Amino acid sequence: MNVPPVCYSHKRNRITDSPISYFMKMALENPHLISLAAGLVDEGSLPAAAIARATDSILGNPATAKAALQYGTTQGNASLRDRVLRHICAMDGVTPEAINLSANDVVLTTGSQQLLYLVGEILLDPGDIVITEAPSYFVYHSLLQTMDVRVLTVPMDGEGMDLQALEERLHHLEKTGQLDRLKLIYTVDYFQNPTGLSLSTPRRQKLVELAKRYSTKHRILILEDAAYRELRFEGPDLPSIKRYDETNEFVISSYTFSKPCAPGLKIGYGLMPQELVGPIVDLKGSHDFGSSNFSQVIIERLMQTGEYHQHVEELAKTYRRKRDAMLAALQSNFSDWPEVRWTTPAGGLYVWLSFPESINTGPEGTLVGKGVEEGVLYVPGEFGHVAVEGNVPTNEARLSYGVVTVDRIPEAIRRLRRAADQLGLS
Ligand code: PMP
Repeated sequence: MNVPPVCYSHKRNRITDSPISYFMKMALENPHLISLAAGLVDEGSLPAAAIARATDSILGNPATAKAALQYGTTQGNASLRDRVLRHICAMDGVTPEAINLSANDVVLTTGSQQLLYLVGEILLDPGDIVITEAPSYFVYHSLLQTMDVRVLTVPMDGEGMDLQALEERLHHLEKTGQLDRLKLIYTVDYFQNPTGLSLSTPRRQKLVELAKRYSTKHRILILEDAAYRELRFEGPDLPSIKRYDETNEFVISSYTFSKPCAPGLKIGYGLMPQELVGPIVDLKGSHDFGSSNFSQVIIERLMQTGEYHQHVEELAKTYRRKRDAMLAALQSNFSDWPEVRWTTPAGGLYVWLSFPESINTGPEGTLVGKGVEEGVLYVPGEFGHVAVEGNVPTNEARLSYGVVTVDRIPEAIRRLRRAADQLGLS
């Protein structure tokens, strides 16, 4: 009997093969590769001992064991919500009370990726518009693709999103009657994935002003993806965009424990306008009715004992060493090639490398293939750009020093240079 085909939803049919599967395939087929592609965290620093101590002590006590192993609430453990709120406020130099925020404005999620998804689901209909930086976090682009929304992009410079270009975009949308389709402006404002750049302090304030000014018929919300904020190893901490949203009406801030602690715990948290909390929690209810209670209890214990903060401090030092090793290797391998440029991140996991236009770094290009032959893998910059808007640069690459060990970084960059040399263009 002929088995008829599965009839997938429109949503499923919009999902294309994720760039992640491309890297996994590459890495699996080529075990000799040094991967600068994976966004994974440093493995030597994962807080295994602290988590083991926390777990023992939680499970060793019947009352806390029950709390950890039972279902929790959809919004998340109230005492952890209070703690993370105080944590964000402390980074911003304020108290929740002083700015009228409470644990009720916080939702704990299954990684921050879930929050990005839930926000999209409660706000966006097909044809709606989201503005992102170019380039931006490529998994967010895939997410928007499943929602069939229009993505408009704004270029970046050394201070993050170019707000003059944003203002021109907003003005154009207004003039052409499309402003009512714009729902969201998404920015990775600390040590961005993929460029490593941060939004400057004056621009943080201006971004909120712009969202307010152009919120005529409905509110234009800012989605502040602060996933890398705590991985800062240089310079002062910058105030969050949320800090300039004095009435808590325009900014949704998304944080995670994946980068500063352990992705395996898979807990993120969002601070948002109060009226969004209900819709987000209702929808999350049908996703998972609450994120892992066990993970939440462990995180709370680590924050309570101070081990979390100690860990983040040590981790920042590790990433600084890795960043330094990568910059030094780039300098010694590429300084004779002046058109090759790279960013100097003050935190996070990524360096953004630009070659002259004649070098194609993309998945169809030759550099990636030569790189694999030489034994190094990176993320083609193309993945961070959206194809819907004209020309996508094909000469950029995201290099991550997250999971690679510090001693292998010089060799990885030497391999990259050898791959580029084989193209005979330098
Ligand atoms: N935002 C950004 C910018 C990221 O790079 C990532 C992970 N790579 C996430 C969100 C989601 O991570 P998680 O769900 O583990 O919090």
